[in-house]
Amino acid sequence: MAHLLIVEDDELLRDGLCAQLTHAGHQVSAATDGAQAQRWLESHRFDAVVLDLGLPVVDGITVLRWIRQRLAALPVLVLTARDGVDDRVQGLNAGADDYLTKPFSMDELLARLAAMLRRSRLPAFGGSLEVQISVAKRLRLDPALPVAWLDDELMELTHREWSLLSLLVKHMGQVVSREDVLAVWQSAPAEGAGGGSNALEVYVHRLRRKLQGSGLGIRNVRGLGYMLELVSA
Ligand code: CA
Repeated sequence: MAHLLIVEDDELLRDGLCAQLTHAGHQVSAATDGAQAQRWLESHRFDAVVLDLGLPVVDGITVLRWIRQRLAALPVLVLTARDGVDDRVQGLNAGADDYLTKPFSMDELLARLAAMLRRSRLPAFGGSLEVQISVAKRLRLDPALPVAWLDDELMELTHREWSLLSLLVKHMGQVVSREDVLAVWQSAPAEGAGGGSNALEVYVHRLRRKLQGSGLGIRNVRGLGYMLELVSA
């Protein structure tokens, strides 16, 4: 059982969410606008938040940024409008852990919430993978979606780029062999460049470009593999 905060101004949807999530065994609190959500979060401890982005008084993105400043590890699932691609990107950018586009099925919401809660409880992951690059700068990888953030800037990654970067981050400062990467890729969806050793060089090249100027570099350790290291930006 988890203590969940539902933030949704649409009464019908809010009541439906509360009823279903209570039925699923969770303890549920509800807020109808962003300011009320902030008051709940200041006075109670929650395991996860379901947050609509289009909210009165204080909008969802503002609430999300506010949460990230105070409660960095609190899982947040964002609800966005059907054609809100900008919303989705903005939501992920502002630190959402996952998102659902309206209309969604209650089963999907329950599954996503369960996965989010599970991830947040994994001690090894702590919710996300992180590298502190400098006092002010860090790289953070989502543990489930192929995205990463350099500070507040969203890096859009393909699934393979993301799994390669995750592996390098996990073993920061150590050599990751080609075989290690290829083994992880076996479970990743196929992408255009194929899966062999040549493809690996292509992906390393792409990642290097995306990391340019970040303070992180990927070193080619001849004959052994690749290593993520701090470089002067
Ligand atoms: Ca709304």
